[in-house]
Amino acid sequence: MSQDPKHIALLGSTGSIGRNCLSVIHNLPDKFKVSYLTTNTNIELLQNQITHFHPRGVVVLDEAKAAAVQALVGHSVEVLAGREGLLEIVRRDDVDLVINSIVGFAGLKPTVEAIKHRKHIALANKETLVVAGELVISLVREYGVHLVPIDSEHSAILQCLVGEERNSASRIILTASGGPLLNTPQESFGSITVEQALNHPNWKMGNKITIDSATLMNKGLEVIEARWLFGLPIERIDVVIHPQSIIHSMVEFADGSIKAQLGMPDMKLPIQYALTYPDRYPMSGSRVDFPKLQSMTFFAPDRNKFRCLQLAYDAMAMGGTAPAIMNAANEIAVQAFLEKKIPFLRIPELIEQALAHQANHVSPDLEHTFQSDRKTREYVRTLL
Ligand code: MG
Repeated sequence: MSQDPKHIALLGSTGSIGRNCLSVIHNLPDKFKVSYLTTNTNIELLQNQITHFHPRGVVVLDEAKAAAVQALVGHSVEVLAGREGLLEIVRRDDVDLVINSIVGFAGLKPTVEAIKHRKHIALANKETLVVAGELVISLVREYGVHLVPIDSEHSAILQCLVGEERNSASRIILTASGGPLLNTPQESFGSITVEQALNHPNWKMGNKITIDSATLMNKGLEVIEARWLFGLPIERIDVVIHPQSIIHSMVEFADGSIKAQLGMPDMKLPIQYALTYPDRYPMSGSRVDFPKLQSMTFFAPDRNKFRCLQLAYDAMAMGGTAPAIMNAANEIAVQAFLEKKIPFLRIPELIEQALAHQANHVSPDLEHTFQSDRKTREYVRTLL
């Protein structure tokens, strides 16, 4: 990467990952300089972040709110509006590294645009790789940029692979906390409330990803991400429930040896590693205390109870635009559940219906992917 300080465009700075990123950047002031920040609508927090980090510009997706921000900050900060603003800032010369912590399919276009302008990527947006992994990874190679995952599981796998020959890895074992409904009996899944599903035991995250954790779709998305990031077929990517969230994932090698990465469940660690990769820097925070922990437990996920995990494996096996169809259906379904328009169990049903009824492009380009996403959203909305 280029010399320090690295100039950063942080997409989605007011979300859970974005806020953690800024805390990491705050602690490494010589290494990083914030050039751009972006938010959908949270302009109060954005103003706060402007005061602390003095970016050159910001993007506010909501156009009316963008005008309000401009009125408040005057000419000291450039304010861009709308999705086009995201694409505009990732192209600029005063950006070395793009951190993409946008939620959902909307994260794909800025990632692709950034790669094409030879920016390194720290990726928290899962959907980029879920819906277009093959295309995005080939662009990463073509433009010679680094794409480093922020997700704790993929960061763990990357850390396990340091110093190893890539083709010596024979199996990836993704750990899953099991989410807020791990111990809720399947019989009561029909009446799960939004509040129950949002009550995650180990990780404090945004609403979309917390619901995805409750359905285990989050782990399904991570299986697909891992497939593209690390080049192993999905038959060699296993999921194991590990409720303590101390082991963040593991890699098994050809000789049967297994490496694991451990740490307290705190997103600041994988974020810092993604930003400083392959170097490590000091970080405060609590440490794993084994005598206090006493035991770590593991068991297989119940793919019947958590159908979304199985659907993700199915979509990946179908290939083509099936993962994009699955993802679009999931995004609409989760939003509808959060708005209390559908019951919890309707989420996997809607995904299944979308996979059964939407046409799958077997070898899609980006345009097919956008088309599948749009058509699936329209279709699933008609089912609500
Ligand atoms: Mg994760």
